[in-house]
Amino acid sequence: MDLFDDVEVLKGVGPKTAETLRRYGIKTVRDFFYNLPRDYENYETPTSIAEMRPGKVVIRGRIDALTSRRARRRNLSVTEGVVRDNTGAVKVVWFNQSYRLRQFSPEKEYYFSGNYEFKNGRYSLISPSAAEVSEIDLSTGLNPIYVAHGKLKSHDFRRLMTASKDKFVLISDLLPTVKSGVRKEALFQAHFPHSLKSIKNARDYLAYEELFELILAARLNRQENEKLKAVKIPFEVTKIREFVASLPFKLTGAQKKAAWQIFQDMEKGQPMNRLLQGDVGSGKTMVAALAAYEVALAKQQVALLAPTAILAVQHYDNLKRILEPLGIKVALLTGATKRKSELKDLIREGAIDLVIGTHALLTDDTEFKNLALVVIDEQHRFGVEQRQKLVLKSPSGKAPHLLTMTATPIPRSLQLTVFGDLDASVLDEMPKGRQPITTTILTEVETREKLYPKIRETVSLGQQVYWVCKAIDDDPRTETTSVKSRAAKLTRDFPGIQIEFLHGRMKPAEKDAIMERFSKGETKILVSTTVVEVGVDVPNATLMTIENAESYGLAQLHQLRGRVGRGQAASYCYLLTSGDLQPSRRLRELEKSSDGFYLAEVDLKLRGPGEIYGALQHGALDLRIASLSDTRLIARAQADVLSFLQNPENMVKYKELMEGITKYQQLTTLN
Ligand code: ADP
Ligand code: MG
Repeated sequence: MDLFDDVEVLKGVGPKTAETLRRYGIKTVRDFFYNLPRDYENYETPTSIAEMRPGKVVIRGRIDALTSRRARRRNLSVTEGVVRDNTGAVKVVWFNQSYRLRQFSPEKEYYFSGNYEFKNGRYSLISPSAAEVSEIDLSTGLNPIYVAHGKLKSHDFRRLMTASKDKFVLISDLLPTVKSGVRKEALFQAHFPHSLKSIKNARDYLAYEELFELILAARLNRQENEKLKAVKIPFEVTKIREFVASLPFKLTGAQKKAAWQIFQDMEKGQPMNRLLQGDVGSGKTMVAALAAYEVALAKQQVALLAPTAILAVQHYDNLKRILEPLGIKVALLTGATKRKSELKDLIREGAIDLVIGTHALLTDDTEFKNLALVVIDEQHRFGVEQRQKLVLKSPSGKAPHLLTMTATPIPRSLQLTVFGDLDASVLDEMPKGRQPITTTILTEVETREKLYPKIRETVSLGQQVYWVCKAIDDDPRTETTSVKSRAAKLTRDFPGIQIEFLHGRMKPAEKDAIMERFSKGETKILVSTTVVEVGVDVPNATLMTIENAESYGLAQLHQLRGRVGRGQAASYCYLLTSGDLQPSRRLRELEKSSDGFYLAEVDLKLRGPGEIYGALQHGALDLRIASLSDTRLIARAQADVLSFLQNPENMVKYKELMEGITKYQQLTTLN
């Protein structure tokens, strides 16, 4: 037996159980050992029932009178029972855990750990975890809690793990940088801890191992990228100078520096793989325009991908205005484009220098004559596979240069680990004359009194308003006000003011027309879903209201807010909260700061990277243990990876390691 055998070889794992495990990504013996407890209960010192106080308690006793019923609210089952010890009895309640009916036998004793609280007119123990007394190692009292996977509950995992106790011998050393046997001991202690200290040691090792793998994967991606060939784009100093001089504004120092880094990259025979980060409004598009101009001068083609059609149209309008006078042919290709095949012919013949589009650009029959630069705006909107597709479009085996632009700032810790294969440019300087955005949290009941006068004032100054809603249609089950009913309400409350609404389910042509009327200033208030989140640029809009603000992540709120404050006038953002709850830390941070990098760090701490970047990148970033804010451990792992890579033999010798990191490699790889 070895670690890469199918889970089904394990004791107690029959075909049915194996199927469930596989569905949750536990396919091999290795996966099984790496399915780590989410937490530990400490059953060491149970309280007697008579002495329980409200709050977290552990008790020990027998359970009976188990019943289960449906609650009035649909989709909720309530399972109840009574636990007794020799001092008294207490009611226990579980929600949606009807399997508890079958978990217990009346003659056995169990530990229960949960919250003792006042609910529905009486005190009870709410949703406790439970473990059979005879199964707990009483010398430690520590009991691992596993995430339930379908029918397999925490206690099932405990049972299976116990049955496989003798299989830990299969775990050999993974990394040359750690003492022999440490890995096996760490995994064993994670599942069968003998003290709190041993849990900590186990987690420290496993976090290190995880970071090592992540950093190694990124480094290998970088090495692979460096092996590829790309078309060299010569730096045309004079032409670029003329172009910059013709602009209606002066480039910021940060824009100049980023453009210069890009020009240097593209002069090399290897594909550029650069990430351009800049807060909303920092002028990333201008940098992309400079890069595109340079490539077009070399008689090569550029593709620019935008996350939405609205944004593609806007980029097209902007870039066409700047680049066409210089003789660059710019075209737009989206789902709504008419006479597509003619345009595609032109692209194939090389008659178009710069093509701007959405994912429609990625359809298989769009061919380029000589695609040398791909610019991706708001990278997080594109999956890895979509990016790969585009890279494959490069002719003659040469890979295009790649410039990825993002307004979601990447904290330094992520830069070193997950994005370690990318070179980074940062626009950390705003164009001159920008006004700060004043952000205010309001409860919904305050809108009439505090927000309405501000909206009237904004409109009377000739400026415009965004009003962002969560949902398109009304849903009786939630309290959120939809785009449609909010627009109707505002139309009643502001007679004579032009109001329209916009959402993602509209036809592209309809969306474009609405956006066009807003851009021109005909529409004064635009009620919209988050389709306006990224990139939309209407400098005359100076007020934004975000309804149900507490339901968005920090990064997303910051993105949304960046739609205002783009012109010379002072701008305002109102965060509406629905309940009378205290505003969350997220909202208070947003009220205080407009620095995207600072907010990204806060977000990373509050939610963890899996939440922020993981969902966007197919969950591949859900680190089991390591914290990406642990900069000391990151630095150590990084140094160790670099020395590991010094010796090419390691790549052959450490087979399990190399196989294990392929999932991370797919995270950012572009080739
Ligand atoms: P981002 O994509 O980084 O959010 P944009 O590229 O859309 O920002 O630029 C925001 C606005 O700032 C645009 O209207 C753009 O024309 C303008 N802009 C870009 N660079 C400068 C500059 N150096 N000085 C003044 N305005 C600029
Ligand atoms: Mg942009």
